[in-house]
Amino acid sequence: ESRSSSELFQRSEARTARNYKPLPVVVEHAEGAWMTDVEGTRFLDLLAGYSALNFGHSHPELLRVAHEQLDRLTLTSRAFVHDQFADFCAELGDLCGKELVLPMNTGAEAVETAIKVMRKWGYEVKGVTPGQAKIIVASGNFHGRTTTIVGFSDDPDARDGFGPYAPGFEMVPYGDIAAVEAAIDENTVGVLMEPIQGEGGVVLPPDGFLRDLRELCTRTDVLMAMDEIQAGLGRTGKTFASDHEDVVPDLYVLGKALGGGIVPVSAVVADRDVLGVLRPGQHGSTFGGNPLACAVGLAVVRMLATGEHQARAAELGTILRERLEALVGHGVLAVRVRGLWAGIDIDPAVGTGREVCEALMARGVLAKDTHGSTIRLAPPLVISAEDLAWGLDQLAEVVRGA
Ligand code: PLP
Repeated sequence: ESRSSSELFQRSEARTARNYKPLPVVVEHAEGAWMTDVEGTRFLDLLAGYSALNFGHSHPELLRVAHEQLDRLTLTSRAFVHDQFADFCAELGDLCGKELVLPMNTGAEAVETAIKVMRKWGYEVKGVTPGQAKIIVASGNFHGRTTTIVGFSDDPDARDGFGPYAPGFEMVPYGDIAAVEAAIDENTVGVLMEPIQGEGGVVLPPDGFLRDLRELCTRTDVLMAMDEIQAGLGRTGKTFASDHEDVVPDLYVLGKALGGGIVPVSAVVADRDVLGVLRPGQHGSTFGGNPLACAVGLAVVRMLATGEHQARAAELGTILRERLEALVGHGVLAVRVRGLWAGIDIDPAVGTGREVCEALMARGVLAKDTHGSTIRLAPPLVISAEDLAWGLDQLAEVVRGA
């Protein structure tokens, strides 16, 4: 029986839709920040499942909780209540400082949920004319892959060929508070944005933007929804990226790391005056808030409640920033770092982002390019300082052409 990486890779490519272009690595098991392929070669994971693996692979406490729940109860549907639900909702709500939690599965579903809730709030609470609700979004956004969401993307790959697109969204330049203000009219129910744009290449808004947006939304009676799916839950050195400006949005949209890299868990978290607009039968999901998801999600929330992972992201983030800033002008055009999260614009003279990722892979480091020439680093927050330094050594040698 053949179990080589190349054979499994080719067979995978042959029998799947080509909606991804993976690096030719075939992983068999993983622990912490390290993944091992079918030949036994080890790779340092500097992507962490696009931040879904903030706590690393095979985290002992998350695995323990998952195994225990797996043997006890996995699904009831929301037609019945299970014993993990109350604690998950209460403790996630407390982590966010909000009253209510609506659990879903994937990030895109949570974004869709936020859109539905903001529209309904607009009609029922704000008094917007039926069918006229408008939501303001940002250029360069990434909120998922559903037909509605790709309709308000400006990335041709994400959007083109998938119309007709849902109306009711207006795009403004990311980080431009004057443009948001100019776009707000009597039909505007919400602003939906990422506090830092992840897929966009770890793009930070100008200092003060989130605070200004909070003030603007309050003043104009518009809901502020922050998509913290990739930026939130410890990645930036704080629980939420919004925390860097002491901003509390009306809706937190969460996903990825909430499932501990084990199960898909997403949620919209908000107060009763917002999420309370949903009544029985108006929204739902067969798997949303299932017992396994809630048990793992609760363990994630409890880990975040200690602040330990946020502190680690902040601490390692200073190493990451120092090391990456030293590369600017040496194969790197620009870097953007917040916590343990970085976007690195590669000098085209060195190669494409993809080529740099392939060279890194040959050295035992896995990272992923985005938008051609940018590489995003999002190591598991449990990575050791030594491993991080080693991974950055490899990057330095690749971009310096060593
Ligand atoms: N929102 C943001 C900010 C994301 O980064 C992503 C995924 O990358 C999503 C939403 C969509 O999440 P999912 O792939 O779980 O649907």
